[in-house]
Order: sequence, then C-alpha cells, then structure tokens
Amino acid sequence: MRAEPQSFDRVLSSMCTEPHPAAREAAERFLATNPGDPGTYQSAAALEDRAVAMLGEIVGLEIDTADAIGTGDDARARGGEPTGYVTSGGTEANVQAVRIARERAASATGRPSVVVPESAHFSFRKAADLLQVDLEVVPTTADHRVDLEAVRAAVDEDTAAVVGVAGSTEYGRVDPIPELGEIAASVDALLHVDAAWGGFALPFTDREWHFGHAAVDTMAIDPHKMGQAAVPAGGLLVRSTDLLDELAVDTPYLESTSQATLTGTRSGAGVASAVAAMEELWPDGYRDQYVRSQHNAEWLADQLEVRGYEVVEPVLPLVAASIPTPLFESLRAEGWRLSRTGDDRRVRFVCMPHVTREMLESFLADLDRLESR
Ligand code: PLP
Repeated sequence: MRAEPQSFDRVLSSMCTEPHPAAREAAERFLATNPGDPGTYQSAAALEDRAVAMLGEIVGLEIDTADAIGTGDDARARGGEPTGYVTSGGTEANVQAVRIARERAASATGRPSVVVPESAHFSFRKAADLLQVDLEVVPTTADHRVDLEAVRAAVDEDTAAVVGVAGSTEYGRVDPIPELGEIAASVDALLHVDAAWGGFALPFTDREWHFGHAAVDTMAIDPHKMGQAAVPAGGLLVRSTDLLDELAVDTPYLESTSQATLTGTRSGAGVASAVAAMEELWPDGYRDQYVRSQHNAEWLADQLEVRGYEVVEPVLPLVAASIPTPLFESLRAEGWRLSRTGDDRRVRFVCMPHVTREMLESFLADLDRLESR
C-alpha cells in the first residue's frame, strides 16, 4: 500500500487531532482486542472500566471503577450506579442516548420526540431516522445558543429527551444546560448533553455543563477529539445503570451475557488509547492544552478582525469568520483544510492541539498573499 495518511500540517477544519504518543502506542498494542466480548478480552474490558471511570471524573459523575461498565449481569444487578462505555464516536453516543430516551418514553401516547437546537450535530438526524422519533429542531439566538423560550414551547408529553450542546460543532457554543435540565424535568423527559467535542476543554472554564452542574441523564464526550486519543474512541456516560439497561440485549454465544453497545465487535485500540491519553493528560496536560488552544483562537480572531473580516468570537477554541467564497476556495487549493458553517457559510477554524501559532501565522501569510492578488 502506498497511500499516506493526511498530515495535520494544514488541517484547520477537523474536530480530531494527532493522538498523544502514549495514546498511539496503546492503540497499537490493543489493536487486536475486542472489548465487545469482555469475557474473552478481559484486559481490554478492564481498560474500558478504567476509561469510563476517568471520563466519569471529568464529567462530574462519581464512578467506582468496579461498577463502571454495564455490559454484564453484575453491573445490571447492582443498578443505580453511574456508568457508560467507549463508543465509536460522538455519533454512536448520540444515537444511543436517543435510543435510551425513546425506550424510556415508550408509555407516552404519541410518537416520541427529541428536542434539539439547530446547532446540534447532524448525528441527531441519523438517530431520529433510525429510531423513528420526531426531531423537533428549535432555533438558536444571536449568540448561537439554544433559544430557551423555543425549547419551552416545543416540549410536551411526547418529548422523550431535550438535547443541549456543550461545545457546538460550528461555533463552539455551550447551551444553558441547567435551564434545559429544568425544562426537560417539567415534562418528565431526559436531558442529554452533547459534549463530544467540548468535554475535554470545558472542565477548565466556568461553564455549567456536566452531571455535577445540572440534572443531566446522558452525555457524549469523545476522547478521540480534544481528548487526544486515537480514533475510534467516543464516550457515552449515563447517570445510572438502569438507563444503560435500556440498551442491553442478551448475548448467548459470548462469554458475557448481555451487551449495551451499538456495535458488537469493536476495537480495543480506541479504549486503550483513551485510557493512555487520559492517564497522561488529565488534568494538567488538558488544562495546558486548553489554555494554549484558547489563546491561539483568540489571537486568530483578533488577526482576522484587524483584516476586516467579521468574526464570531471564540468561547471555546473555535473561531468562525466570514471569508469570501473565492478566497476560501483559493486557500483550499493551497492545501489548507477548511470547512464552512451550514447557515451563513462562515469559515470555521478549530484550534485543536495540532494547531500551533506558527501554523496560524503561515495561514495568515497565505491569506494576505491571496487576498492581495
Ligand atoms: N457531536 C459534536 C458536538 C460533534 O462536533 C461531532 C463531530 O464533530 C459529533 C457529535 C459526532 O462525532 P463523531 O464524528 O465522532 O461520530
């Protein structure tokens, strides 16, 4: 095979990044393991317990490592413990969260619905389609956060879940999670928080976003994004095992007896690399990285503003700016990997760990050169 992987040198559009060296090494070592069969691949399964426990610490859930994963009878029998598992990514975590909510709402009279802000990731459209639930998309306000009045108006007895985004894909915005929790509770719906991208940056901000801040029921948080683990390593966390039990099916031919994950066989590489990255970086390494990335984003926003571009200020390390289409195309032709928002076609700059100040300086030099042509 001759193909080379994409270098990160000019990647400004991705929510993923270069894995930490320890995460890369762990992924390689556990490549041939399958935590989907925990009775057979016991060390990978133990690592998954560790991953869930560490993720739990990050998102304000108190998890006892021994109780962490709900794929076997023991955890089910205990009930009530916060838990979760390592998913293939944010999409799987969001699909599974909607599935839990749908199962919970089975007694409602009409077809269950899920209320999401328009800023929510497109994975919720997949979830709604697959699971036959109605997606009630509500607008965001001028600050790109969900409009709470619109959420209040959208919920009713068929609402199975209300979704808040903690680090939106296009603008890096954090919805008012405690208020969304109150609205969800008022109609007996679950609150799901999508922190797939923001979850490893938010602990170092003063935002209220996690289980400890609000009545969150389920959450997506991806080690393979800001967490610097190798793909595939997402995370689904739930407030109590009975929620995960909504997903469990019996697994007669495996050594374990039930499985809550969406995929069956899955790579232990993601699980191991998530643990390696978190052991290496939580909390100080992630804090340092967040500070560096946030400074880079603020610096880039200033630089773009000085040049006359309209900029959406970065709350998290993500800048969106109005750059004309011909210039956007020219920059892409120079090898810069850039993408745009769906609504008003702003260019997004995701200041992931591989995005350095030197890289941004080199980007701006290209921008200036192409702009003056
Ligand atoms: N949620 C958010 C907020 C995201 O930004 C993304 C992807 O960028 C996802 C979910 C989907 O994650 P994945 O692509 O890992 O499935």
